[in-house]
Amino acid sequence: MIPISVVQVGGEEEDLVLEVLRSGNLGQGPKVAELEQIFSEWIGVEHVVAVNNGTTALIAALQALEIGAGDEVITSPFTFVATLNAILDTGATVRFADIALDDFLLDPAMLFDVMGERTRAVLPVHLYGQAADVPRILEIIGSRDIALVEDAAQAHGARIGGRAVGSFGVGCFSLYATKNFTTGEGGLITTSDAALADRLRLLRNQGMRKRYEYEIPGYNYRMTDVQAAIGIPQLQRAEAVTAARQRNAAWLTDALDGILGLVTPQAHAGRNHVFHQYTVRITQDAPVTRDEFIERLGELGVGCGIYYPRAVYDYACYRDHPRVVADHTPNAEQAAREVVSIPVHPALTESDRARVAECVRKAVGA
Ligand SMILES: *Cc1c(COP(=O)(O)O)cnc(C)c1O
Repeated sequence: MIPISVVQVGGEEEDLVLEVLRSGNLGQGPKVAELEQIFSEWIGVEHVVAVNNGTTALIAALQALEIGAGDEVITSPFTFVATLNAILDTGATVRFADIALDDFLLDPAMLFDVMGERTRAVLPVHLYGQAADVPRILEIIGSRDIALVEDAAQAHGARIGGRAVGSFGVGCFSLYATKNFTTGEGGLITTSDAALADRLRLLRNQGMRKRYEYEIPGYNYRMTDVQAAIGIPQLQRAEAVTAARQRNAAWLTDALDGILGLVTPQAHAGRNHVFHQYTVRITQDAPVTRDEFIERLGELGVGCGIYYPRAVYDYACYRDHPRVVADHTPNAEQAAREVVSIPVHPALTESDRARVAECVRKAVGA
């Protein structure tokens, strides 16, 4: 079986973790600071605040912006549920701007219909590792007092015109076990605003700058040095690992060209894609249904996944939620019926890659 994701950690991670274990300093310490420093250089953003997971990164970013009850946050309806849960946690109301079907990303033009007087933040999701059209979103926000929070949980190192996602607004990254880079559980917040970074650091550590001197009510959002030790060597290899994903994706797109009813992902000019997932659409033109495709692919020994099977608001607990406005988003609902992600991870060998393409062709009946 070729799995949909593989964790690649080795001797360097083992050595660093052992070093931390032997240091006796298992909490947040120098390794977390080092991880923040490496990420800040890679992303090209002044301040990085490490936290215990990506959901916390989103919550803390919204809290630091003082978004709460009575405010509205607009996000993509086609995302992992954490995006929605984080907004709800702050007490704000969630609204949705539909995606474009060709890239699964929040369509900036859809913002006009949902942006209003109570909108305090727009929260695009760089889904599957592809950069959302942040410059256009910023243009539409214009001079309004609306913050940009980027859900970059899947998009470490994705760039728009050379500038990394997470450097346009407040960036929220995840280091969960299946993401492009991992600390098991972990998150990173990026900002070029020194005051906001300071506030994030206070929120992370019970509102303390000096021990037992509380400046604001805070939380425990801290990452541990054990986690950071797993992440540091991975970030040092970040460019090579990302390039391997991109090579696999380009190869698959060539190999899967011209199949009836199968649409391969396309990167936009000037906005790159770091391929956290390689996601195709099985459309109505295909000789098989998506369910049949997935079943056959599994029988042929190729792992796949549906990210995500429904629009994020399309569950009773959100449909009935007083702070979730289920704006009509037909493209997200169609994407949810058509998407399938297939292996693209850097551990794929050339023969794995060839087998993935061959099995996809067979499974779709081409
Ligand atoms: C993984 C993910 C998150 C949450 O990150 P965790 O580290 O799992 O808390 C948020 N948004 C998106 C789009 C994600 O993929």
